Amino acid sequence: MLVTSKEILDHAHQNGYAVGAFNINNMEILQAVIAAAEQEKAPVIVQTSEGAIKYAGIEYLSAMVHLAARKASVPVALHLDHGTTYATIIKCIANGWTSVMIDGSHYSLEDNIKTTNEIVKVAHAAGISVEAELGRLSGVEDNISVEEKDAIYTNPKEAEEFVKRTGVDALAIAIGTAHGKYKGVPKLDFDRLTKIKGLLNMPIVLHGASGVSEDSIRNAVILGVNKINIDTDVRQAFTDGIKDLFAVKPDEFDPRKICGPARDAMTAVVSGKMRLFGCSGKA
Ligand SMILES: [Zn+2]
Repeated sequence: MLVTSKEILDHAHQNGYAVGAFNINNMEILQAVIAAAEQEKAPVIVQTSEGAIKYAGIEYLSAMVHLAARKASVPVALHLDHGTTYATIIKCIANGWTSVMIDGSHYSLEDNIKTTNEIVKVAHAAGISVEAELGRLSGVEDNISVEEKDAIYTNPKEAEEFVKRTGVDALAIAIGTAHGKYKGVPKLDFDRLTKIKGLLNMPIVLHGASGVSEDSIRNAVILGVNKINIDTDVRQAFTDGIKDLFAVKPDEFDPRKICGPARDAMTAVVSGKMRLFGCSGKA
């Protein structure tokens, strides 16, 4: 069934687990995510970037996810990842997204609050959940100073003020993860996470979690992360699945025999993430 992400994340927050939010941009990835969610009896957030919308078309994505959600035995939310403009967010709301992110993290605190408030007003009027972001998700080197860290990572007091003044449903924070593939092993700032969770007492989101160690993920969930975004690991599974196929059958030309095994590989990766995040059996 199609639900808002607030519905999914409030339950996760109250019961101390995290839900996986998986980026999709074609039918096979969506089917893999839904198959895993059903296998694991897990609530799931299917999310699309603005790039995915450009690639597949907003109507295609909307129709596919709505169909998948209607047929699914678990709660499914359709979320816009890193929305940057008012126009895109309105288009998503008009096309049946049940949740949107407005990413004003590159603005000053005041401008981020102002931009986020414009979205919250319209989204909440339509019954749509809003995620915002505070702090910057750049990769951080090991030898970074405390002052540099403070400039990049989410400031707990600012986070408290941000949420009070915007009324967002979930907040993405920067505590040491980065988007894409990592060069080294990321170290998360768990003290900062604990402080933020204590002050906010609401669903916390972790972006850029592909490549973070399983122990760190487990700890982040214990300390209050409730939504974990995964994109890179699923892309990697898709591509590895196709590479493996061509390694054995270099002359294969049937797309079904190329994408089918890749889809199975993605289902296995997504299932593993759901067990790690603690959302298996929570639907
Ligand atoms: Zn992100």
